[in-house]
Order: sequence, then structure tokens, then C-alpha cells
Amino acid sequence: MHVEVDTNLCESNGVCEALAPDLFEIDDDDSLLIKVGQLTSQQVPDAEAAVLRCPKQALRLVRSGMGADELVEVVNTDGRVLRVVSRAEMRHGTLRHRSTYIVVIRSNGALVVHRRSDWKDVYPGLWDIAFGGVAAVGEDWGTAAERELAEEAGITGVTLQDMGGGSFDAPDGHVVARRFVARTDLAVTCPDGEVVEVGEVSLSHLDEWLSTHDVCPDSLSLMLPLLTEAAGLDPS
Ligand code: SF4
Repeated sequence: MHVEVDTNLCESNGVCEALAPDLFEIDDDDSLLIKVGQLTSQQVPDAEAAVLRCPKQALRLVRSGMGADELVEVVNTDGRVLRVVSRAEMRHGTLRHRSTYIVVIRSNGALVVHRRSDWKDVYPGLWDIAFGGVAAVGEDWGTAAERELAEEAGITGVTLQDMGGGSFDAPDGHVVARRFVARTDLAVTCPDGEVVEVGEVSLSHLDEWLSTHDVCPDSLSLMLPLLTEAAGLDPS
């Protein structure tokens, strides 16, 4: 997610700078300078406040990776960037890209599951055992995971445990992945509408739940083998 300004509306009054000096600055030419590209999850609340308080309604938040024109990295199997293309081109060509996966585990060991919106461009309407999504151009793994968890689940301020890399290859997609676990009892609030239904499943009932739900195959492939460790259970 990043902030954009409509320079035709902005009157450089500095309201946003006063609210969030780390994000905005009126420069020597009396023009508004947006000081960051991709927002971290910690920066999003300040950015939202500036958007709401701008008296000229000149600011807007732009969700990363949502538009067909949004740029994404095409990578090789090692994750090395080969070129940058539009999201639409990536999807159309099923080109290999970077994506994060974050499982949310409750203090009682339950796994948070969710159903994806019907407007998602991949696996619409399916249930999922992990949050996450396509990493933005130049975005580091940790920032991408925090952003996705904030945007999809509304969960912020939680330390993510890096569970390592992985890959997923299928006829409809190729992914170089980074996997994380968030151990938290914070509510899932679904702020961006990508998630339309949420539930919790104990690992002892997960097989039964999986047998009765259509679930995204990439998350299953990448995260299912890690769930016992993610939940802090003894695999023996
Ligand atoms: S608050 Fe709005 S009008 Fe004022 S400087 Fe920021 S973007 Fe421009």
C-alpha cells in the first residue's frame, strides 16, 4: 500500500505533514513530498489519518498488487528478479512471482482460516489457511508479510516468525514463497474486503475441516507441513 497525492487539489497547507512528518513534507518549493514508497503496517494508520484529515481530499491510499496495472517482479526459481511486468501480464502468463504466506495461530493452538472474496483474481471464493499475497517490486519479505496481514486480516503489531522459503508450481501459477507464522489472539477485521468469512479450526480437527471445504492449493502445499511446528506442538 502507498499514498498518492493529486497535485491539482493539494494546496500545500501542511496538514498531512503535521499529522505524519515521517510520511509527508512540504519542500522548499512549497510542494508536497511523499517521503515513503510502500507503507509498513506501522505507517498505515498515520497515512489513513492524513487521508481522512486532508481538507482538500487530495490524498488517497493505493492498495499494492490489486490493480491490473500494478507492477510485480517476475523471478526465477531462486527468486532472482528477471523483469518487471504488470499484474495482469503475470496472471495471464502464469509467470513465477514472489508471494508471502502467513498462518495465524491462536494461543489455544487453533488455526485461523478464511474465505477469499469472489472478486479475487486467483482462487476466488475458496477457503484459505494462510493470509498473504504478491510482494511488491523491491519489497522485502518481512514488510510484504506485515502489509498483507494488515490489509487482509487487519492484524498489526505482531512479531512474525519467519518459517523459511518455499515454492509452489501448478498449471495456474508459479510462486517463490516466504512463509511466516503470527501467534496472536487479535481479532481478524478484514479491512480491505479480500476476506469475507473467518473461522478457527483446531489442528486435531483440521483433516475433517479440509475434507469439507474447497481450499487454496498453494497455501495447503506450502503451509500444511509447517502447522505442527507453527502451533508449537510436539510432532512426535
Ligand atoms: S493535507 Fe492535503 S492539501 Fe494539505 S498538504 Fe497534505 S495533501 Fe496537500
